[in-house]
This record gives sequence, structure tokens and C-alpha cells, in this order.
Amino acid sequence: MSSNPFQQERLFCPGPTPIPLATALASVNASVYHRSEEFYSHFKQCQTFLKPFFGTKNNPIILTSSGTGAMEAALSNLTQETDKVLVVEGGKFGERWRKIAEHFGCQVETIQVEWGGSPTLQQFEQALKKAPDVKAIFMQANETSTGVFYPLQELIPEIRRKTEALIVVDAISALVAHEINMDQLGIDCLLSGSQKGFGVPPGLAFIALSDRAWGKLSSRHRYYFDLKRERDNQEKGATAYTPAVSLIYGLLDAAKKLHDFGVKECADHHARLAQACRKATGAMGLKLFPKSHPSNALTAVEIPEAVMKKGLMGELKRMGMVFAGGQDHLKGKIIRISHLGFVDEFALLGGIGALELALVRCGHKFELGSGSAKFLQSIAE
Ligand SMILES: *Cc1c(COP(=O)(O)O)cnc(C)c1O
Repeated sequence: MSSNPFQQERLFCPGPTPIPLATALASVNASVYHRSEEFYSHFKQCQTFLKPFFGTKNNPIILTSSGTGAMEAALSNLTQETDKVLVVEGGKFGERWRKIAEHFGCQVETIQVEWGGSPTLQQFEQALKKAPDVKAIFMQANETSTGVFYPLQELIPEIRRKTEALIVVDAISALVAHEINMDQLGIDCLLSGSQKGFGVPPGLAFIALSDRAWGKLSSRHRYYFDLKRERDNQEKGATAYTPAVSLIYGLLDAAKKLHDFGVKECADHHARLAQACRKATGAMGLKLFPKSHPSNALTAVEIPEAVMKKGLMGELKRMGMVFAGGQDHLKGKIIRISHLGFVDEFALLGGIGALELALVRCGHKFELGSGSAKFLQSIAE
């Protein structure tokens, strides 16, 4: 039997996320010379639309790379070899900060956070007492592997008061779904990527620096990810090397839509979806994985072992539903439902409905339809 022509593939994974048709079509516009006034002006517009999502007066730098490229750029531009740095490790992406820091020869101190938890102020105080000479702190806003949004609002201003270290926050999967004002909080470097909240295909990363961070650039060797060189070029709308021109046009379309809707409105939308998703999965008898601070970007829930063993992921896949499983020791234990990117309540309701069907087919006991009903009730409230 050939595959069902009526069935569509639907993305509920935390990147890449669903993209508006106009954004996808705009990304086809690749025949523009990147050393032209037309391109410079469009590039500058992209920065203008992105800027309020970072909450800073400085223009975000747009890099042609995946999000990890921006992580590497932050680390290599803001630390020297042998510098002591502090990394919050509460999941797969915290682990990535540690690995990059180690790779670049930093001495790494870590704050270990149980997966599903958040770092506490006491942990930062202890770590900074033990290592008062750390040059920079690296952490996530949203730990995508666990579905936790760290409480930046409470933590960052306090950390700022206690140390001169640069505070670097990976908000790759957080921006758009959460409002983060880097200048107000005291964040020195905030990064994001195209294929998560901004709803653009993968391939662009964004990184904004505070004046303090620009004043503390390291002198170590780097070539492609030289933020000073990029800034000097991007002031004019140019890039040091050939950018992903097609994606810049996709970004222009998507970022304008998000910008015009409003930073707070975007975060509120995702908060509404996240709340409805938590209530729906709760009604299906699934336990929320985060111990506190669940993210607006995605919902991680525990799945009973027997249900997973019966092939839940495969069942979803056969319906064209792309959910993310757990990583490392969470493999086979949780699923992650993303509501990031251009997703509305009706698209997410489809995902919730599919999850209900798949759960029933895998022997999970609950009343079919109870999750979808709870979802709609939450949206109606
Ligand atoms: C997706 C993600 C990244 C990595 O981005 P890539 O584009 O895959 O390199 C880094 N950090 C977080 C928190 C993410 O969600």
C-alpha cells in the first residue's frame, strides 16, 4: 500500500518548528547579491525586528550557522584560554556549554542541576564563593532537553549583584516563547537561533552583547566567529562572509510578523498554549517532567514504560506526528511536545488528539477525548 496522500507531516518537536507559507516562499528568494544596498537594507530591517525580542539597545549579530555556532562564538569571544568559567549543567544543552568550554581550554566549574530541576540562587552563591575568580557564567534560559525554563527573572539580577563575571544565556529555544529583557536583567550575552521560536528554517543564529561584554572581548584566536569583525560589518548591513541570503529573506518575513504582533503578545500566546498542553496531558494521566518552572516552548511529560515499549513513538510517527523523545537517560521515559514557532491552538489540538489516540493504541488507560476536552476548556477560559 502506498502512503496515505491525505496525511500530512506535522512538527511538534523543539526545532525545526512550523513555518508560515509566506516565510518559506520568501526563503526561495536567493538571487540577491549580498553586497548590494538592497540586501543591506533588508539585513538591517531583520536586526530591527529581532532587537525587541532580546530586550537590548545593541543590535543582535546575525550569524550563518546553527545555534551551536552562536554558543561557540560566545565562548570563544568572551573567554581566554585557561579562564575559569561557571556552567549550569541541568540537561543536554548545559552539557554542551561545558564541552565547548573544555574544548576551548577553560577551567570549568559546574553547578549540577538534576534533570528536570532549576538552579537555585544558593547554588550560584556557593559556586561563586568557591570560585570568586570566574570570568563568565554560561547557562540556558530554556533547557530544551527537560522542558524547564530557568527562573532568570529571580536569578540574574541577584547574580549580577554578586559578581563581575559576564553572564551568558543560551535562549535558543526560549526567545519568542518567553520575554527576556537582557538589559533590564543584566545579561551580557543572549543567543538564539532561526529554527526555534522565530519559525525560520535552520541555518541562522543570533547573538546580542551588552556594552560590558563588547568591552571585554578576549584576544584569543578565532576566525569565522569573530564578533567584532561581524559587528563592524553589520553596522552597515553587510556580513564578513557570504550569509545565508535565502534565510535572511525568510527571517525578514517571519520576524516582521512576530515583531508587529508584539514581544509580550508572542510570549502570552505561547504561555496559553503551554498551559493548555499541561492540562491536557494531565487529563491523560501523564506526569509533567519538570519539577517546577515548566517552559512555554515545550511540554515534557513522563510516559509509562509499558506504553513506550508498545511503540508510542512509532505510533505517532505513523500518523505523521513528529514528537521528540527524551535524550540520554531520559530516552524511552519522556516525550517532549513542542508548541514553539508558528503554532496556534488548533494545530496543537491536532497534536493532542493524535497523542490521545496513540496512547490508547499502546494500552494506556484513560478516557479517550479527555485530554482534548481539557485542552479546549483551558483555551476557552
Ligand atoms: C536547539 C538548541 C541548541 C542548538 O541549536 P542547533 O541549532 O541545533 O545548533 C542549543 N541550545 C538550546 C537550548 C537549544 O534548544
